[in-house]
Amino acid sequence: MTMETLEFQAEARQLLQLMVHSIYSNKDIFLRELISNASDALDKLRLAKLQDGLEADTSDLHIEIEADSEARTLTVRDNGIGMTREEVVTLIGTIAKSGTADLLAKLKEASDSKGDAELIGQFGVGFYSTFMVADRVSLVTRKAGTEGHGTRWESAGEGTYTIDDAPDAPVGTAVTLHLRPKDEEDALYDYADQWRIKQIVKRYSDFISFPIRMGEETLNSMKALWARPRSEVSDDEYHQFYRHISHDWADPLEIINMKAEGTFEYEALLFIPSRAPHDLFQRDARRGLQLYVKRVFIMDDSKELIPDYLRFVKGVVDAADLSLNISREILQQDRHIQMIRRRLVKKVLSTIKDMMTGNPEKYATFWREFGRAVKEGLLSEPDNHKPILDIASFATTHSAEPTTLAGYVERMKEGQEEIYYLTGESRSQVENSPHMEAFREQGYEVLILTDPVDEIWVDAVPEYDGRKLRSIARGSVDLKKDEEEKEPEGDFGPLLGFLKEKLDEQVKEVRLSHRLTTSPACLVSDSDDITPALEKMYRAMGQ
Ligand code: ADP
Ligand code: MG
Repeated sequence: MTMETLEFQAEARQLLQLMVHSIYSNKDIFLRELISNASDALDKLRLAKLQDGLEADTSDLHIEIEADSEARTLTVRDNGIGMTREEVVTLIGTIAKSGTADLLAKLKEASDSKGDAELIGQFGVGFYSTFMVADRVSLVTRKAGTEGHGTRWESAGEGTYTIDDAPDAPVGTAVTLHLRPKDEEDALYDYADQWRIKQIVKRYSDFISFPIRMGEETLNSMKALWARPRSEVSDDEYHQFYRHISHDWADPLEIINMKAEGTFEYEALLFIPSRAPHDLFQRDARRGLQLYVKRVFIMDDSKELIPDYLRFVKGVVDAADLSLNISREILQQDRHIQMIRRRLVKKVLSTIKDMMTGNPEKYATFWREFGRAVKEGLLSEPDNHKPILDIASFATTHSAEPTTLAGYVERMKEGQEEIYYLTGESRSQVENSPHMEAFREQGYEVLILTDPVDEIWVDAVPEYDGRKLRSIARGSVDLKKDEEEKEPEGDFGPLLGFLKEKLDEQVKEVRLSHRLTTSPACLVSDSDDITPALEKMYRAMGQ
């Protein structure tokens, strides 16, 4: 094939624009992104050999950096899996990631550049970040296991790129940056400077498990962070590692180390992020943990290791006794994996519980960001109702601050046996509901549940600590129930009869009630019926 000039996909072009105009204050991170891609490519080659029997030399997998201050170029080279011409076009010329459109829309809204940087960081800047420091980038690659020539890609980051055959390309990928003119004011930004490069590698990529070489020297220590005692690792090292695996720009909220010895050995290093990713509620989002076997990367997004409702937890699990060519199918069945999963869940939930007492502010952040996801666990994990409810908090009529269920139970009135709640679309809607009147009047606290998932889990969870959860929109909750049943219709008899007749199609029964103080009437459902809000949700879903 000959040389072609192609256009970047529209979304890719928009992201590139942002990079070229460099809204991101920390430009150093482009190197972290390149090294991260190179490391992924080396992992992939080793895996292809292990699992698919690809014939490849993996005896010296490494990353090489060449800085030429005369030519003002910087090259990052790996002898990993490489890319075919078609792959270069799809992987580099387009953005396949979910949520891109979303992100770009948000970027348009955000007016300040700090907001932009945060959004971009959350999204993972990737390969395009090279255009923050280079005015031209070329990539030469050859896919492992393919015959013939490789591929050369080149772009100035402005709408188009060229792609051509590269006859002599070795297996792997080399990315060369033609650096922008030196900023004399700021020597720090000289990325052709070897000392500067060493410093950046040490800072951001020390834990990368393949050697990163410059000349004869290996720049990184290659120590697996999860295998090192916590006391020996600095927060900064943890944070850099977190960024490597999560693409999150902010520091994590919590770091969790785990180590199990004995019949089944594993080490885990988990992170609870400090904010929800933009795609937390998107089906195709990346989720789960990385699985390693004895320091060898096996797979990303290993859903088997952590249930869906904790999908925001990032990290690494390194298991000693699994086979290197374990497949996802086998993983699902594996007893050990199921055991690890149970332990991780327990540990994550207990960490959050500790956070509630040890650092309430941190907990409040956690719950604000991830509470909606965590509550999904009430549907999928009946065994964990109690530990999940223990770390949950809910809006309440008691105060502006959310409450735990334990807090609610403590404040329950003399003689109150059930935990009252009302679901709805918003706090104000719930507070103004006629159902609320008598409860407010008589000083009963009611939980205000306004997340869509609340409609569903309340039906799956019968009780907390022996107290029934009870919707105040349902028929049988009446504060003066006995009296109501006996309530004489008196003068109202004819009115009730009239209403019943008129509303025959719509209601089952019309009766007098004590539950109202100012509203003339309200609709309630039978105890076994669905709540009004759920009814509405089903209707919206066309059921
Ligand atoms: P991400 O790494 O988050 O997928 P990037 O923008 O960094 O996003 O890279 C896009 C894709 O290009 C990668 O997923 C990978 O498939 C491919 N790629 C980038 N660099 C390399 C490399 N050195 N070797 C092989 N493939 C690469
Ligand atoms: Mg990348």
